Amino acid sequence: MIKEGSTVLPGDKVAISEELQPGEGTYEKNGEIIASIIGRFRVDRQRMTAIVEPLTKIPLVLKAGDTAICEVKQLTEAMVIVRIIHIAGNKRQIAGEKDGAIHISNIADEFVDDIGKKYRIGDIIRAKIIRVEPAIQLSTKGKGFGTIKAYCTNCRNPLIRKNDLLECPSCGRMEERKMADDYGEGNLDRVI
Ligand SMILES: [Zn+2]
Repeated sequence: MIKEGSTVLPGDKVAISEELQPGEGTYEKNGEIIASIIGRFRVDRQRMTAIVEPLTKIPLVLKAGDTAICEVKQLTEAMVIVRIIHIAGNKRQIAGEKDGAIHISNIADEFVDDIGKKYRIGDIIRAKIIRVEPAIQLSTKGKGFGTIKAYCTNCRNPLIRKNDLLECPSCGRMEERKMADDYGEGNLDRVI
């Protein structure tokens, strides 16, 4: 029979009704327990039921190579600290709070001497996860990576792209950032 923890498709036989009762995500048909949704097969041993957990409830495991959407939480002299809020192209939720760091040398292809000219707290950025152990590290080198939405440091309005700079439509302030080539388009699921 199907191993516990396996991913199953609707219609897959996961158990027989002599062994288990149908639980969430399953139904019984002709003595067999069948998955009704795509998900992961589990057995609730207390109630002796077969369960298929929806995939969206399964915590997402981050890995090197993932394209991540992050919010800038903190800037240090040599590091941008971000919270990863979404993995592009993946519907699963990220388990818990996942913070990562972008070292100054990984911000852009060219040399960066002032982090504050590249990112600001609250910016939404697209970054590539380059390692997950012992701590998550990301990079925004390359034209598809960088901020996709940034806010005025004066008045917090979303900034509008104006050539190589960003302009606040409210107070007129011009700001500099490391921008993704699709800044402002809201592409959260673009995988690079
Ligand atoms: Zn402003």
